[in-house]
Amino acid sequence: MVEQVKTVASSLRWLHGDNKRSLEEVILVLLCMISIASVLPFGLFRLWEGSWLSATVDLSLVLVFAAVIVHVLRTGRHRVASLLVTLFYSAGMLATVYLRGVPMVYWIYPTTIAAYFILRPRIALAINTVALLALVVILSRHLVTLNLLTIVVTIGLVNLFAYIFAYRTGLQTRALHTEVERDFLTGVLNRRALDRKLGDYADERRPHMDSCLLLLDLDHFKSVNDEYGHAVGDTVLVRLCTVLRQHTRASDRIFRYGGEEFAIIASGAEPDAALRLAENLRVAVSLAQLLEQRPVTVSIGVALMDKRTSPREWLVQADQMLYRAKEAGRNTVRVAPYREA
Ligand code: GH3
Ligand code: MG
Ligand code: MG
Repeated sequence: MVEQVKTVASSLRWLHGDNKRSLEEVILVLLCMISIASVLPFGLFRLWEGSWLSATVDLSLVLVFAAVIVHVLRTGRHRVASLLVTLFYSAGMLATVYLRGVPMVYWIYPTTIAAYFILRPRIALAINTVALLALVVILSRHLVTLNLLTIVVTIGLVNLFAYIFAYRTGLQTRALHTEVERDFLTGVLNRRALDRKLGDYADERRPHMDSCLLLLDLDHFKSVNDEYGHAVGDTVLVRLCTVLRQHTRASDRIFRYGGEEFAIIASGAEPDAALRLAENLRVAVSLAQLLEQRPVTVSIGVALMDKRTSPREWLVQADQMLYRAKEAGRNTVRVAPYREA
């Protein structure tokens, strides 16, 4: 038993971990493997007993599943393949019911649920609903109304429950993603989110949208902690984020980069606009009375997110400018010089 668990675990690691495959790919490949294992014996049996049409349906499905496995493992592309698998699966099961009659209806239940594993809930629901209507047409010749209704209602319920489950899981996954990228204390985005956003921006191919990266650091913050305590320091950080939110546009993104350092991606702002934004923020913070007892200020470094360089380079440049602002006496903004295209 332990050996079996180890084998499954290592094959999952092979599929998912070491090769950096997405979970969607792994699920699709596993689903196809399981489907081959379930359908192939029946296909071979139909072949042996000479039911050529049924054998053709079953073995075609097996071929489609095998082709999808090869395609996904080779290319890593799973979206269209997932749709194809669901369509073929549904069509295959309907054909089987049509050819072999009512007992084959049991196949529809796992097929219905499988769609929700590999497609978005709404698409799975749409395909399953069409398949169910087609099933009603096929079965209406064979069954009295009450029996037909029983099948329709039970498949309908399986569909509904699977939809709710998939929908709820989707909501939870999205909520989890949001939490993973949020700073616990201040509620702004965290360093992980910054890395991802900078990467996204670097990959985006929109040459006309200049954007800038601002790095802000509270001045002499250590002395705030030393004089008034860590809890008061925390309150200052929270209040600072409120001020930053109030003075940035909805399209700007605010991140907590480190302890008392913050980053802002000012999207669509070329360096002059970013300089104006940084000045506004600097003044707003100094006037905001983040601490009743004494003024709190920030220094800000600004760099153009030049697509000819890399996110790492933007961070280095903004950090150098921040260092210059500190050197210049703090409560200051510095912008990195930039080359025209
Ligand atoms: P500078 O003007 O050169 O930036 O001086 P500074 O004192 O702000 O910089 P320094 O790097 O010496 O100190 C940063 C301080 O920020 C030290 C640390 O205690 C404080 N800090 C970092 N994270 C937090 C936090 O989550 N809460 C609180 N209260 N303080 C924090
Ligand atoms: Mg500081
Ligand atoms: Mg600092």
